[in-house]
Amino acid sequence: MSDTPAGSLYVVATPIGNLDDLSPRAARVLGEVAVIAAEDTRHSGRLLRHLGLSRPMLSLHEHNEAARVDQLDARLVAGQDVALVSDAGTPLISDPGFVLVRELRARGRRIVPVPGPCALVAALSAAGLPTDRFLFQGFLPAKGGARRERLEALAAREETLVFYESPHRIRDTLADLATTLGERRVVLARELTKAFETFLDGSADELLARMEEDSDQARGEFVVMVAGAAPRGDAESSAVEADVLLSALLAEGVGVKQAAAVAARVLGGAKKVWYGRLQALKDGH
Ligand code: SAM
Repeated sequence: MSDTPAGSLYVVATPIGNLDDLSPRAARVLGEVAVIAAEDTRHSGRLLRHLGLSRPMLSLHEHNEAARVDQLDARLVAGQDVALVSDAGTPLISDPGFVLVRELRARGRRIVPVPGPCALVAALSAAGLPTDRFLFQGFLPAKGGARRERLEALAAREETLVFYESPHRIRDTLADLATTLGERRVVLARELTKAFETFLDGSADELLARMEEDSDQARGEFVVMVAGAAPRGDAESSAVEADVLLSALLAEGVGVKQAAAVAARVLGGAKKVWYGRLQALKDGH
């Protein structure tokens, strides 16, 4: 056993656009560690050059993260400090690092956050939507069916909903928001901290129309924030209201599967749950 105290893993947030957002502490840590594990070493190399720093780097991305754990832990055990950075913002937030942090924490290593930019926090801080409770969902599924299903499952949530989105899918996502969540206030934060930073505010349909008028509005990186569902009355009265709607659908001859889809869209919640309740009503329970 060596007497050298183990080193620390510093989880360092880096800018999401404006390089001045890197904190002095982050710069100091990046300049002092023995090695920097980076999602993309070329990308982070440019940041280091901007800071006038030169440190050994190694890549850590979703395809090699598990394999890097022992390698980086050996550095820590040898008493070296290590920094983890991603391409932009806070590592682990829709970025690599979770496996590394989980494993090193399980081994009792010291893990130190060096906080800083994070697109979802920056977006929420300026959107004017409630922030007392919010539900961050990362990226929605790429395929339309799965995306709409995820949104339907979120329809009854009363917290502000927050998503990350790319320019390739922003229009499809807005269209799906309109069909699954209906008339809700949506705030789009685009290109945060960069030259073309823009906040657009309106219903999903209105924002789509803005993009039709001005295709530049669909370019860049986005945080999509959606107002939560209007609060419902007490659980019991909403359950009674739901049963009235479900019974009416069955009485009109709508099939259980289709009625479950309608209920999920109108009342929120998962189709599967409504399917079960409809079966029970049909069976007279
Ligand atoms: N770890 C990062 C963070 O802390 O925000 C997020 C990384 S994730 C791979 C990239 C996504 O974050 C983008 O697709 C976009 O949704 C969002 N994002 C990152 N930078 C942004 C910016 N400057 N403006 C708006 N959204 C941004």
